[in-house]
Amino acid sequence: MDEFSLISHYFSPLSSSQPHVLLGIGDDCALLTVPEGKTLAVSTDSLVCGVHFLNDWDAFIVGYKALVSNVSDLAAMGAEPAWVSLALTLPSLDEKWLARFVEGFKTILHRYNMSLIGGDITKGPLQITLTVHGFVDKETALKRSGAKGGDLIYVTGSLGEPAYAVSQLSKLPCDDSIFHKLFYPTPRISHGLLINRYASSAIDISDGLAADLDHILLSSQKGAIVSLPKVPVSSKLLNCISVADAQRFALTGGDEYELCFTVSPSCAQEMERSLEANALEYYQIGTVLGSGGLIIENEHAETVEFNVKGYQHF
Ligand code: ADP
Ligand code: MG
Repeated sequence: MDEFSLISHYFSPLSSSQPHVLLGIGDDCALLTVPEGKTLAVSTDSLVCGVHFLNDWDAFIVGYKALVSNVSDLAAMGAEPAWVSLALTLPSLDEKWLARFVEGFKTILHRYNMSLIGGDITKGPLQITLTVHGFVDKETALKRSGAKGGDLIYVTGSLGEPAYAVSQLSKLPCDDSIFHKLFYPTPRISHGLLINRYASSAIDISDGLAADLDHILLSSQKGAIVSLPKVPVSSKLLNCISVADAQRFALTGGDEYELCFTVSPSCAQEMERSLEANALEYYQIGTVLGSGGLIIENEHAETVEFNVKGYQHF
């Protein structure tokens, strides 16, 4: 199979007709329009074999997770997913691998009614680069820079599992289901679309709660206090390791794709009611302070020190 039959076999079928895609895969560019009154939210992510996934993983997981990690950035902006482009660097034309990759990719693409609008295929060390586009109201787009002193800090789900799973990849795990969130994370699109009316800032947790909350604090020029007992720790993790170790994974572990966001106390109650009415999980874990860094307190109101804040790329 050459490059062009490969595109028409595997990728062109994913270029579904959407009212805002005037021209999809097959020409030099895609032609796109944005719904009246909306703004485009755009984000690019690369996944490198050996860094973000391993050579022996089922390619379904690679396709699935690649799109989730990208779509998660749209969730963090409160945007609705629309399109994606896909740049693939492949060491060889391994059709078995490609077919599995496309199955995983398609699962998320269809779940969020997205269209594949184009891409590129090159030869080289295995790598996937995606650029997603979503629609958002300019006024309600969730930026990192909007947190105010006194705002409440929330996360959308329990933490720690993916990082622990990474540490267990080469070992026999105590519980196989511990790998589920690492391999099949959920982008918190429904949360993003609901909280965008209420939240003052948001970020998705890809490098670890402490590190990513720190990005909000730096952008907003604020400090924060997080209560460790309020940080939701995966119950599966608590079955495997000590509470202290599980809390360390929850605070510093990456690959979560949960959202961390801040909300003024004046709209917190209404937002919580709305999240509950939609069966969307949330945990209030702390408060934004006027200044200073991130303080993490234990149940005795003592400051807890962590030397590693989160995943560092270099
Ligand atoms: P060009 O040489 O003009 O850049 P290509 O021959 O690389 O175009 O690609 C032909 C068409 O196929 C383009 O519309 C391009 O967007 C699309 N395409 C190429 N690779 C991919 C891919 N991995 N996924 C989706 N579409 C792709
Ligand atoms: Mg061209």
